[in-house]
Amino acid sequence: MTEEYVIALDQGTTSTRADVYDRNFNRVAGGRVPLNAAFPQPGWVEQDPEELFASAVETLSCAVKAVGAEKVAAIGITNQRETAVVWDRSGKAIGPAIVWQCRRTAERMEELRAQGYADYVRDKTGLRLDAYFSASKFERIIADAGAGERLRRGELYLGTVDSWLVYRLTGGRVHATDYTNASRTMLFDIHARKWDDGLVSLFGLKGARLPEVRPSGGRYGFTDPGIVGGRIAICAVAGDQQAALYGHGCTQKGSLKNTYGTGIFLLMNTGKEAAVSRAGLVTTMAAGLNDSPDYVLEGSSFVGGAAVQWLRDGAGMIESAAESEMAARSVSDSGGVYFVPAFVGLGAPWWDSDARGLITGITRGTRREHIVRATLEAIAYTSADLVRAMERDAGLKINEMNADGGAAANGLLMQFQADILGADVIVPRYVETTSLGAALLAGRAAGFCGGEKRSAQCTRFSPAMTEADRTRLYSGWLKAIARSRA
Ligand code: ADP
Repeated sequence: MTEEYVIALDQGTTSTRADVYDRNFNRVAGGRVPLNAAFPQPGWVEQDPEELFASAVETLSCAVKAVGAEKVAAIGITNQRETAVVWDRSGKAIGPAIVWQCRRTAERMEELRAQGYADYVRDKTGLRLDAYFSASKFERIIADAGAGERLRRGELYLGTVDSWLVYRLTGGRVHATDYTNASRTMLFDIHARKWDDGLVSLFGLKGARLPEVRPSGGRYGFTDPGIVGGRIAICAVAGDQQAALYGHGCTQKGSLKNTYGTGIFLLMNTGKEAAVSRAGLVTTMAAGLNDSPDYVLEGSSFVGGAAVQWLRDGAGMIESAAESEMAARSVSDSGGVYFVPAFVGLGAPWWDSDARGLITGITRGTRREHIVRATLEAIAYTSADLVRAMERDAGLKINEMNADGGAAANGLLMQFQADILGADVIVPRYVETTSLGAALLAGRAAGFCGGEKRSAQCTRFSPAMTEADRTRLYSGWLKAIARSRA
């Protein structure tokens, strides 16, 4: 019997989903289960590794059942990045999964910064010295479990969520990860493409069993037959943002995608060169099928669609996120109003944690609709700030940008984005690009060759603004940013 399908397992922070795709990478079935998170102290976020695994088993089992195990060629796994798990040989986690958002190791990172490690870490890993990445989370899980002795005896397995799932799904036969996930741990030298002994020691992790690092697409192993209803090849592993980049087809140098979710995640492929950012972006690795992955520049902002949520829940100016488009369309422009949604400071390229939000340019004629419009425009300006920083860092000029995420459904925002960038913005009709990316990687590793025509199925927004207007509006934004800063 021919194998007709691939399954993408998308293990996210708020839910786990499994989608079944046919040979042309059209989604034919799938399901999702929501997940819990615990917040034991302000700024702390953790999840139960067993719940993450159980959700993967549940969604995968349903997906396998929907089409029949013998028809599934491969599973591709994509996952919430940086979240750390530590377990033993039997597959028992020794503590909670510390989630990427968790700030509990912020002090530890400050200590390393004070000791002068920022450049050392950035040069090897491409990352900013921050609690966001996995290394200090591994260290903390082991310390909290009092498992230092077990670590030294070589009994502990460390990994991001992909590795945890691969280990458990293969019945403990495979301990592996891919370049994209490894490059987010702060233990991986992205230039030498190997775990770095110096960093492993710096975080007190000598003796740890680190996963073998492999290309994102390729054979990882087989699911244990008793677990998801069949013995199925796991043929891809990739962190969610890089899977989305791949799902958009951004495999050429200079191609990029922006995700307009709660926050903003912009990733640009910089080819074989690891661009070093002067603007505080991070350098990381792309998903691919071979052993010399491309590099990526990544910039993010905590506030994207969250500004629209504030309009709805904080200011009560709209009833729903979707209504923002209608309200904004009822006025021809923002009437000179700028909204800087620096609720929690400003991220890249400004890095000012003391900045706070503000609304400028209000006159007697300002209406609710102008403020709503200014909010959508702020999302586009914030993205443009990141794009411009990336262009400088990579020495490239972009002509088009791919978009996804909840707020990419807003046509006015997408048009304004194209206008303010002076570049086309492309929104695919199928928006689950993270899941699609994992499916494409797994499918291609398993020999599927369809899906080439997918990129035609999209909406393209082209700039329709004069250069003079673009310059005038953007300089107004920069003035508003300057005012928001401490
Ligand atoms: P996440 O994956 O981060 O939870 P989503 O990709 O689901 O986010 O996007 C949700 C975000 O998009 C919310 O912040 C919401 O305010 C915003 N959003 C959803 N629809 C629209 C819309 N039509 N216009 C503007 N913002 C929107």
